[in-house]
Amino acid sequence: MAYGRGVNVPSRPDPAPLPRPPSARSGPSSPSEAGAWASPFLAAVEVVSVDRAAHRRTEDGLVATLRADPRTRLLLVHRGRLATDGDGLALVGPDGVADVPEDDATGYGDHEASPRWLFLGEDPASGAGFLALVLPDAADADGLDIEGIDPSSPVTLLVREHEWAGLRQLAGRLDARDHVLATEAVALASWHARHGRCPRCGEPTVLASAGWVRRCVAQSIEHYPRTDPAVIMSVVDSSGPRERLLLGHAAHWPERRFSTLAGYVEPGEGLEDAVRREVHEEVGVVVDDVRYRGSQPWPFPASLMLGFTARAVTTEIRVDGDEVTDARWFTRDELARQAASGEILLPSRASIARALIEGWYGGELPGA
Ligand SMILES: [Zn+2]
Repeated sequence: MAYGRGVNVPSRPDPAPLPRPPSARSGPSSPSEAGAWASPFLAAVEVVSVDRAAHRRTEDGLVATLRADPRTRLLLVHRGRLATDGDGLALVGPDGVADVPEDDATGYGDHEASPRWLFLGEDPASGAGFLALVLPDAADADGLDIEGIDPSSPVTLLVREHEWAGLRQLAGRLDARDHVLATEAVALASWHARHGRCPRCGEPTVLASAGWVRRCVAQSIEHYPRTDPAVIMSVVDSSGPRERLLLGHAAHWPERRFSTLAGYVEPGEGLEDAVRREVHEEVGVVVDDVRYRGSQPWPFPASLMLGFTARAVTTEIRVDGDEVTDARWFTRDELARQAASGEILLPSRASIARALIEGWYGGELPGA
């Protein structure tokens, strides 16, 4: 594989809303059952709804070929948001973007004012292709601006003709396939926006391989899309008569918001070590029995959330006061009561944090 990474492996879709844990119907599980719950994500990842078709990325004229195929569907991306039809994604046919030039062939060049065409994959059943068309930031400018975009240009008209929404707003409104496509498009577009220059020599990079490579113009070095792993974990104290879950409040969150702890994996660090380190740094609790539960792409701008459970070895809380300003242990009763009364605000239903919390609780919780 030319890319040197496992890019031909089918993606792990993360449909929103997340499926409920199996015990949801029977109410909260007893402490003895709680260690046995399976990832609420696993049931959903069996169906591959988009074939990323990595073998096609180096195909000559791939974008032109797909633009000539009336079955092709495009996602429009602008400033990290997606074109919507008011409900779900606005999936546009090639005719709808016929006037938009293809980057390099037209003299636009691969600079900030150029639209970018990214190959997202194929429908596994029909073989129809999916593209993302990333419109330049300045396409929403009112007049001829410093980037030189004409207000009557096709990219400006596309921005004006559509409604736009971010992934968070769209969560829960998209089916599994569209959620996968939207996440892939936003993540890839964000990588291009931030990697216009070679990290080795500082010279410009240009798009290649239908959006999956950026090549340094000076050295011809190829750069590949990056993902930053982050761990997110539910920490459980089973030492007392009633199990308790540890939730924290981060400094930058809205008041009363409580969620699982999370943090970035550091260079050279294993995931389990990152879980142990982050929990200890943020709240002073020692954990072991770290187990992987599932993942969620979080392209804001480039994270992959890796969900874990961990068992508390110590229970005394000492918040770092910097990232985390409050942290508490909750029994199931306390959690349900405080979420219902609004005393605490839980994370969004479309988040892995919520899935971890409800996975421990054993069912759906009120709020949000
Ligand atoms: Zn370079």
